[in-house]
Amino acid sequence: RPDTPLLEVEGVRTRYGMIEALRGVDLSVHAGEIVTLIGSNGAGKTTLLNTICGEPRAHSGTVRFAGQDITRLATDRIVRLGIAHSPEGRRIFSRMTVYENLQMGALIADPAHFQDDLRQVFTLFPRLEERREQRGGTLSGGEQQMLAIGRALMSRPRLLLLDEPSLGLAPLVVRQIFAAIQEINQRQGMTVFLVEQNAFHALRLAHRAYVLVNGLVTLSGPGSELLANPEIRAAYLEGG
Ligand code: ATP
Repeated sequence: RPDTPLLEVEGVRTRYGMIEALRGVDLSVHAGEIVTLIGSNGAGKTTLLNTICGEPRAHSGTVRFAGQDITRLATDRIVRLGIAHSPEGRRIFSRMTVYENLQMGALIADPAHFQDDLRQVFTLFPRLEERREQRGGTLSGGEQQMLAIGRALMSRPRLLLLDEPSLGLAPLVVRQIFAAIQEINQRQGMTVFLVEQNAFHALRLAHRAYVLVNGLVTLSGPGSELLANPEIRAAYLEGG
């Protein structure tokens, strides 16, 4: 079907022991969209991204990618299908150089595309090109975030998952990162699913958004609509 979402999450429940972190989440992301999931600390945002990637696994419900049920696939299979994850805390390889980190991202991609993809990442983040021989662990927080996104892009994904790319970054750097995400979407047509506590930037960027509270989606709509919603403003934007 032409209108099959690229990513479809249906009734997903995930638990850690006795704690149910996701209590029946439904959402979808269509090709070409930027969709964001906002929610406060502990709402279950990271758990959802990790569940999409197969670790931890949903104990009920379904995750579909391009119409295929991936709920029970191993993470490496999911990655090979075309889902790239830039995880919380960035998790770059700190002893490897910028260039080596990007090579790691490209391991599952066709080597024929490596130079082109590298060029694209360096065009998006010139700072990474300037620092290509520098070790990951010595980069600033913003540069590490650029590297985490660049590394994810090097696998040529069809879907890019970003876990709190603004976390711990100065406002100017946050703006740069969000501008880059928008550019990836507009120039390359990349589909992006982004989870954020920084609701203001995330909603401005998003075509559509979902609000996660305590493991459940409580609200959804166009980013601009949620941005204007008084309840959202009071809960996530005021003073933030
Ligand atoms: P944050 O922005 O603080 O990371 P979040 O919305 O991403 O919040 P999660 O990290 O997904 O939230 O956590 C959701 C719930 O699951 C929380 O109550 C958390 O304590 C719990 N949780 C997360 N990871 C684990 C784990 N490995 N073991 C046990 N409980 C966990």
